[in-house]
Amino acid sequence: MKNIVVLGGGISGYGSAILARKKGFGVFLSDAGKIADRFRAKLDEWQVPYEEGGHTEERILAATEVVKSPGIPDSAPIVRKIREAGIPLISEMEFAGRYMGRAKCICITGSNGKTTTTSIIYKILRDAGYNVALGGNIGESFAYSVATGNYDWYVLELSSFQLDGMYKFRAHIGVLMNITPDHLDRYDHCFQKYIDAKMRITQNMTSRDWFIYSGDDEVIREQLPKYDLRMRQLPFMAHSAVASGAGDAFLCDGKFTAAVGRHAVEIDTAKLQIKGLHNAYNAMAASLAALAAGVAPTKIRRSLYDFAPVEHRLEPVLEKDGVLWINDSKATNVDSVFYALESMTRPVVWIAGGTDKGNDYEPLKKFAREKVHTLVCMGLDNAKLVREFTGVIPEIISTDSLDAALTACKRAARPGDVVLLSPACASFDLFHNYEQRGELFKKWVREHA
Ligand code: ADP
Repeated sequence: MKNIVVLGGGISGYGSAILARKKGFGVFLSDAGKIADRFRAKLDEWQVPYEEGGHTEERILAATEVVKSPGIPDSAPIVRKIREAGIPLISEMEFAGRYMGRAKCICITGSNGKTTTTSIIYKILRDAGYNVALGGNIGESFAYSVATGNYDWYVLELSSFQLDGMYKFRAHIGVLMNITPDHLDRYDHCFQKYIDAKMRITQNMTSRDWFIYSGDDEVIREQLPKYDLRMRQLPFMAHSAVASGAGDAFLCDGKFTAAVGRHAVEIDTAKLQIKGLHNAYNAMAASLAALAAGVAPTKIRRSLYDFAPVEHRLEPVLEKDGVLWINDSKATNVDSVFYALESMTRPVVWIAGGTDKGNDYEPLKKFAREKVHTLVCMGLDNAKLVREFTGVIPEIISTDSLDAALTACKRAARPGDVVLLSPACASFDLFHNYEQRGELFKKWVREHA
C-alpha cells in the first residue's frame, strides 16, 4: 500500500493528509512545531495519525512519498534525509492535482500581485455562477477541497515553493504576473534559481492550455525563448508590444481591452476600486484568465468594477482632517513599494522599515524624491533606510515602535496628504507577521488619527 507522509500540519498539510486518507493510503503527518487546534480537530475527525513538536525519522523515512508544506525549507535536516533516502518529495499541488478528475485549474504566480489577481479571478468566476474553489496560498487548502468538494474549477495562488515540488501538475490556465528578486535566502541567493522556480508554471502545458504573462516584464521576456512553449499565449502590457495571435491585453490612456479569440472586454481603470498601474496589470491578467475560462465579457466587466482592494494591499483605512491613511502592510519587498509610490497622487508621508531582506532601494528613489516629503522609519534597525534616503526625502524620522511611528506621521501630515504604510521589509522585528502589522496600524488610525 502507498504510504504517504505529510510534513507540516498547517493549511496545506492537513488537507493533503485528509486527501491521502480519503484515497485509502497509509498516512502519517509530522510537524516540528505545534499544530493549530482547528487542524488538529480535522485530523482527529478523519482519524489521521500525527505527531507534533518533532519528527520521528524512522516513521518518516518509511514513506513511499512525502508531501512537504511550502513553509518548510529544503535546508531543514529532515528534508535532507528524505532526499538522501531517495524518497520522492512533492508539494500539495502535485499530490492533489492527481485527483482533480475533469476539473480545470487556473494557477497564478509571480513575485507580486498573486493574491490580488487570484482573488479577482475567483470573484469573476463565482459571480458568473461557476462551481469554483479558491486555494493554494489563500482560501481553503486545495487538497482539502479536492477531498471533500466536487468542483469544476480551482483558482490557485502558487508560491515558488509550491512550484518547486510540482512535476506532472498541469495548469490549464497559467498566469505569471512578474519576476523580481524575492525569497533569495531560500534559493542560495541565486536569482536564476528563483526565476526557474517561477517558470515551472508553464511545465506540462499543452496546445489546449493558456499562458498569461506580463509582456512588460524584462525577466520573463528574456526567459521565454529558452522554453519550448506549445500553449496559447496571452501577454498583458502597458509599455511593450508583444504579438500573439491568441489574444492579449493592452493598457493605453487609462483604458484597456483584453481580447481572447473573438471575445473582448473593455475596461476603464478609473472606474476600478483598485488603483495604480500594478492593479491595472492585475485586472488585465484577470480579464484574460476569465475570458479564457469562457466567462462573458459583460460579466467580467461587472465583477471587476465591483472588486474592492484585498486587506493590507493599498487598503484605504480612513480619511481624517484631509489626511488619507493607507495600509499596504503586505508590501514586504521593494517592487511592491515601487508600485505603491507610483500610484500615489497626493503628497506622501511614508512609513517603511522592518526586517531588511537585502533590499536595493535604488528603484524607489525617483518616486520618493517626487512624492514623499517625510519618511518615518519603523524598525529595530533603521540605519540602512536613513542612509539610503538622506538627501532624497527632506525629512526622515527614525522610530522603533508603531505608536512612535504613527504619532510622528500624525504630526508630519498636512491636509491633502496620504500617510502610507508600505514597508518594503518583513515585519518580524516588531510584529508576528504582516497581517498583525496591518491590523495594529488600522486600530491605531481608527483610535488616534
Ligand atoms: P502577492 O500575493 O504576490 O504577495 P499581493 O496581491 O498580496 O501579491 O500584493 C502584495 C503587494 O504587492 C501589495 O503591497 C500590493 O500593493 C503590491 N502589488 C500588487 N499587485 C502588484 C503587481 N502586479 N506588481 C507589483 N506590485 C503589486
